[in-house]
Amino acid sequence: MEWRRLAADVRPRAQAHIDGRFTDAQNGKTFQAINPATEAVIANVASCDVADVNDAVRAARASFNAGHWSRCPPAERKRVLCRLGALIASHGAELALLDSLNMGKRVADAFDIDVPAASSLFCWYGEAIDKVNGEVASTDPGNLAVVTREPLGVVGAVVPWNFPLDMVAWKIAPALAAGNSVVLKPAEQSPLSALRLAELALEAGLPPGVLNVVPGFGETAGRALGLHPDVDVLAFTGSTSVGKKFLEYAAQSNMKQVWLECGGKSPNLVFEDADDLDLAARKACFGIFFNQGEVCSANSRLLVHRSIHDEFVDRLIAHSRDFMPGDPLDPASGMGAIVDRSQFERVKEWIARGRTTSTLATGGGTRLVDGKGYFIEPTIFVDVNASDPIAREEIFGPVLSVLKFDTEDEAIELANDSIYGLAASVWTGGLSRAHRVASRLRAGTVSVNTVDALSAQTPFGGFRQSGFGRDLSLHALDKYTGLKTTWISY
Ligand code: NAD
Repeated sequence: MEWRRLAADVRPRAQAHIDGRFTDAQNGKTFQAINPATEAVIANVASCDVADVNDAVRAARASFNAGHWSRCPPAERKRVLCRLGALIASHGAELALLDSLNMGKRVADAFDIDVPAASSLFCWYGEAIDKVNGEVASTDPGNLAVVTREPLGVVGAVVPWNFPLDMVAWKIAPALAAGNSVVLKPAEQSPLSALRLAELALEAGLPPGVLNVVPGFGETAGRALGLHPDVDVLAFTGSTSVGKKFLEYAAQSNMKQVWLECGGKSPNLVFEDADDLDLAARKACFGIFFNQGEVCSANSRLLVHRSIHDEFVDRLIAHSRDFMPGDPLDPASGMGAIVDRSQFERVKEWIARGRTTSTLATGGGTRLVDGKGYFIEPTIFVDVNASDPIAREEIFGPVLSVLKFDTEDEAIELANDSIYGLAASVWTGGLSRAHRVASRLRAGTVSVNTVDALSAQTPFGGFRQSGFGRDLSLHALDKYTGLKTTWISY
């Protein structure tokens, strides 16, 4: 693909999308979408506030009550969602560019990974929805108790910027498949692909008002959605501290259901009996440096058995060179740019802090591309203690902390010593050890002899302060449906 040439032709949609129409924010305000690789302004986006969120919720409620979507045959919803999946695929280059230009990820990853994942997820939930059946309870004779899954009404979705298109798909594909109407607030750093997606959804046949997109800031548009008395469900992905706010918003308003997918500090345990240490080192680098480390389940804590530590660190350093940052539009770049200046400054501060407590094994520097941009080298700290802040707090950047362990019990204790519990990885050639360790790790997903195992078919989400509720798989439908019992005496 000639990404640079294609990028020059991208014309982002920048207005809110409410009730099937693009519209300015009522206050007339906009905010700048900035390309973090070039620091250029690429759009001035409607900055939605309470009034716009109210309009969007009204449109969502009206569409839900009208029943064109909420009560249409599941097979019709399937047709629309599959068409939307196909439209995402056929507009893949444009959507990939919107995300890459907006938040700095490698366009090749957006095109090869994010777009196909979003496209197939809409098809997956579309295909699933006419195969999800209700239940008949085993009541006494003379009674028939039917248990059905009902859509809940208006779903508010608030998402982060690290996988803009995919985070939207994870929320809205199951919510729409179940028959709900949605008001989506994308992150202020990355609203562009969501706005284009709303347009493609209309083209696919989704009735107006069923999917509304209100770009804006968390403190304004996000808060208004969280506090809205007519939103039935709020599905959030983002930081743990903001996730807690949504619990407060629900308590202060209408006790809406809240589902939280939050942060992580995921451990990657490498035992001395791992079959292929070089593969483990390569995947460990992928686990922390993919997407600039801006991954909720990033394997940011590497726990290595003391007997192989030094050799393993050498391999890590070698593989980290594959992730040198560069122009996100150049497929040869190992990483793209950090999402924005403030996250760039935050990651630099973490690196400076790491230097005071640990040993910098590689990286730590910043780079410019054509004199611009927020690029950070893949960075590895060794001699990290479990109590050091860089081993405990989510950095959300390309920074790996390496810790040593001596025994299996110690490794498990270190791995579980976190407020988070999103993901974990284990490298071992021993079948018994794999099961033993996996069963004791407190994490929503444990990957054995790989990292970041993920599929549409398996649930994704966390324990502890990584949140609750699950995205992906049929289990995601639990968040967007309520069980209804209809009891007939005869
Ligand atoms: P964030 O919490 O700052 O923002 C997430 C969303 O919440 C954005 O849309 C933002 O505008 C909104 N928001 C911010 N403050 C708000 C407020 N006061 N009221 C209402 N809404 C508000 O997170 P981020 O920086 O966009 O993303 C990074 C975080 O997301 C990391 O902690 C990462 O681990 C997490 N994340 C989790 C998952 C998962 O599935 N568990 C996936 C991706 C990212």
